[in-house]
Amino acid sequence: MAVEIVEKPTQKDIDANNNEKNQSLGAFQKLSKDLLEDERILKEFTLGKRIGFYRMRGDLGSGNFAKVKLGYHCLAKEKVAIKILDKNKLDEKTQKMLTREISCMERLQHPNLIRMFEVLETVDNLYMILEYASCGELFQKIVNQGKFSESISRCYFSQLLSAVQHMHQRNIVHRDIKAENVFLHINGTLKLGDLGFSTIVPTIEQQLNTFCGSPPYAAPELFKDDYYYGNSVDVWALGVLLFFMVTGTMPFRADTVGKLKRKILEGVFVVPDYVSESCRFLICQILRPVPGDRFSIPEIMRSVWLEGSTYPKQLTSSLLKPNADQNACQTDEEVEAMNQLRSYGVTEEMIAGCPDSSRNNINGIFRLAVYQAQKRKIEKQREKELQLKQQAEEKLKQSKLNRNKTGTQANGGGKNQQSKFCLLL
Ligand code: ATP
Ligand code: MG
Repeated sequence: MAVEIVEKPTQKDIDANNNEKNQSLGAFQKLSKDLLEDERILKEFTLGKRIGFYRMRGDLGSGNFAKVKLGYHCLAKEKVAIKILDKNKLDEKTQKMLTREISCMERLQHPNLIRMFEVLETVDNLYMILEYASCGELFQKIVNQGKFSESISRCYFSQLLSAVQHMHQRNIVHRDIKAENVFLHINGTLKLGDLGFSTIVPTIEQQLNTFCGSPPYAAPELFKDDYYYGNSVDVWALGVLLFFMVTGTMPFRADTVGKLKRKILEGVFVVPDYVSESCRFLICQILRPVPGDRFSIPEIMRSVWLEGSTYPKQLTSSLLKPNADQNACQTDEEVEAMNQLRSYGVTEEMIAGCPDSSRNNINGIFRLAVYQAQKRKIEKQREKELQLKQQAEEKLKQSKLNRNKTGTQANGGGKNQQSKFCLLL
């Protein structure tokens, strides 16, 4: 009788087999497996240096409710801001605010609004994975370097207007617009963030009654009426912010909230002389005590001071989660993001199983990949514009040179004489 001898595999064989299996795994599966098994990674979790696919690198700041850390997505290789909230410290009210903040952020996609990619949760903490704004707060910049010139203010203010208009068009009001919640990003881009007080309203004319925001930016109706309209309150705060940008000071200042409230209700503020007439006019039309008299966002956009400004449009991607159906992708960026997911080894089955939720790591990678593709597109456009500008400048320089040459010849080489030809040109 033949006996089959089964050799027991050695540890070396097991390791080799595991290595082989690991090599056939995509980057996504490999990292998912490591998150459960790799001792070094598990230690990083316990030390608070990692959450999901994100490594935490250092502190960015802290607020009343949250700590914010710099993070790095290990697969997408993208820096993010991680807002960490201690769930044990959240009472019913703050928990409600947080839920609202997350649902508002999920509905918004605009180049001048901080994006949210993913939400993660542990027993003790909640982590919001946000777009990282690398150049700090607008507030700090003005405190450190003083007021902005009107042309720089115009460039930033038009981006802010565009962001707030995008929110209002989606029936979302911010209710905490202030220089501390506006972040600066590379290439002169500005991003409005901290949607902690934001809320979704059935219509933008909905009356609200909860006092929100910071007193120096509060509209008068917040102090005296039983209700207010969120969009008018946001517009008032934009006016205060514009005043702050062009002067480096606040329109209403006082050492107690009571005195501040009185000043805001009196509605008297002084715009310094050096502020241009058109800017002064705009500030005065925004800081009108009666909400109905205040300029609306379209009126602000049509104002003389903002003449010639361009307003960034909302981002075109509408998908918040991957979709295996190629026809569902409406933009090149979404197609690129899908390809990126597949290159990480995310399978069609996994894609099909993604829920409609921010609490899913594949959706998180997809949103990051779309964001990266959009950044590449914007960068390409910027390069193209720069190239065109350089070419135009070069052409102008050349034609000036040619003109001078012709002029010099016509003048018989005289240095300081100007020819008729030159003057006509
Ligand atoms: P507060 O109640 O004081 O407004 P908060 O608890 O709501 O604070 P945030 O304002 O969201 O928290 O964040 C706190 C700080 O973290 C900010 O002031 C800023 O310095 C930093 N920060 C927040 N989000 C980002 C981001 N996306 N990119 C870079 N830094 C950020
Ligand atoms: Mg804040």
